[in-house]
Amino acid sequence: MDAITRITRRSFLARTATIAGGAGLTLAGGHFSSANAASPVPGDLQPDSPIAKNWENPLHMIATIESNVADSLGAPSCLERHKIYCLLLMKLIHRFWNGNKYGPFGTYPQRNKQIEYKHNSYTRYKGDLYAGPNLTIWDRYLGHNIAAMAVDRNGEIIDFEFNHNELFRSSSEHAEARLVRRLFDLTEIFDHWKTPRTSFKGLRDKARELDLTDITIYTSLESCAQCSGMMSLARVKEVVFLQFDPGAYRIGNIMYNLARKTAKSTSMSPLPIPADRVGIKYFTQLNDSYQRFLSTPPQTFFTSSDHKIKKSTDSITSFLCTDEAMDIFKKGGDEIAVMELEHPNVACSPGGWTNQMCLDHAKCFFEYADIQGFRGSPHKL
Ligand SMILES: [Zn+2]
Repeated sequence: MDAITRITRRSFLARTATIAGGAGLTLAGGHFSSANAASPVPGDLQPDSPIAKNWENPLHMIATIESNVADSLGAPSCLERHKIYCLLLMKLIHRFWNGNKYGPFGTYPQRNKQIEYKHNSYTRYKGDLYAGPNLTIWDRYLGHNIAAMAVDRNGEIIDFEFNHNELFRSSSEHAEARLVRRLFDLTEIFDHWKTPRTSFKGLRDKARELDLTDITIYTSLESCAQCSGMMSLARVKEVVFLQFDPGAYRIGNIMYNLARKTAKSTSMSPLPIPADRVGIKYFTQLNDSYQRFLSTPPQTFFTSSDHKIKKSTDSITSFLCTDEAMDIFKKGGDEIAVMELEHPNVACSPGGWTNQMCLDHAKCFFEYADIQGFRGSPHKL
């Protein structure tokens, strides 16, 4: 044990002893245990707030959404509407699939279907498998194959975004975060210094802040702490996700349970909805496939052409480059073209669009995105 390790370990033990003593906790087997310990609710918390009411509850209760809450998703027709937009999201992700995480050249054993050509020892992989001849082919990896889409209460799609971590050399350009920023930006688009013309009435009447209480966000993965936080601050209503993310450690559920609207508090966090709750069978397929990816013996995900670089990875973003993941997104995306609605003439909100209108709109949106949308790039980067 070196000096730094000793100091760090000593500091840790001293700190944990203080915490354990102060809060009546004991350290058992390397983990804190609250057995036989009373932990009074701190005085700064309102006694009737969700966090105060959950203070003594075990983690599994706080990290789980009660089934009766999830059941309030609505009528079967509303589930069908969610399903339409989940499938559209899958189609968008498949359309803009780019698995070149470490560049287009080299060898990715799990991406054989994405090979563009082989020449002697060189193999080149396509970064944009479906670009037409007149469109830019995005071989450079811009971000992960993770996207999010916003739909308003009537069923109209507002916009979509992809993860752009690589493009911005950042680890926080997540799809949901970019989408929330984009939605707020959109509300300002028509504000120009000439807008009010002869008076400033137009601006005076404008709300000081907007919220997204009627917005549903559809996204690839269970949202992380950053994106859950942004959606919570934006008052997003609900977030439907296509796959669990172990890196999210159920933070969306925890925030939802601890920030629920009460008589005295308007704070809230979006309801996280796993896509299997709205009838998306690909949710299970993606989770199972990722578990297989994790459980297979470590294998090389990428080898550079000169064999100097080898990457073995079990990250979910690498999984989302593989043929197996891509095929699942393709199946989901293809389903939208042949989808037969059970509730075509029903709207999920008063005055909203019927499911048939939503389905037609979704197909129309894809045509736009295919040519103009790219990975959310024509609008503000
Ligand atoms: Zn995130």
